[in-house]
Amino acid sequence: ANELKIAVGAMEIADKVVKDVMTKIDDVFMLPDTTVLNAKTVMEIVKMGYTRIPVYQFGDKNNVTDMLFVKDLALLDPDDNFTVKTVCGYHKHPVKFVMNDTPLPHLLEAFKKGEGHLAMVKRSVGGTEGHEAYELVGVVTLEDIVEEILQAEINDE
Ligand code: ADP
Repeated sequence: ANELKIAVGAMEIADKVVKDVMTKIDDVFMLPDTTVLNAKTVMEIVKMGYTRIPVYQFGDKNNVTDMLFVKDLALLDPDDNFTVKTVCGYHKHPVKFVMNDTPLPHLLEAFKKGEGHLAMVKRSVGGTEGHEAYELVGVVTLEDIVEEILQAEINDE
């Protein structure tokens, strides 16, 4: 039965970690905070089709400071030429981070508790105790975990 296959898929995620299912950073659509939200840029953003867009400090893609929700653009007047930074400062959607080696069941629990179902994935790149250095390697959403659970069913057919 499908129920059984989904249950098997749910058990299989027990051995998997975030980096196994994330979208890699090179494929992530992000915006610098300096982007001006005029008619042209708003159209480009909407066309990408994503719900949430990580926002980084201009010049440093490793420093994601905000999340832009595409629905926040609905009430925007493109003639105001607000920047992404201004709009994000108004909505203040928190940015979540998760380590690339976090087991998927842990992330699933975290997603069940919070409302924001997207996390930036970071990887430790050394540093010293208390001053660890990280690099962003991707994004992961609830959708990525659900896909992985349903994968067991697809593979079996
Ligand atoms: P959306 O609602 O934007 O489609 P989902 O949570 O349904 O987002 O995720 C669908 C897929 O898109 C997942 O694989 C997720 O990792 C990826 N994804 C989500 N946001 C982005 C983004 N800004 N850039 C690239 N990939 C993204």
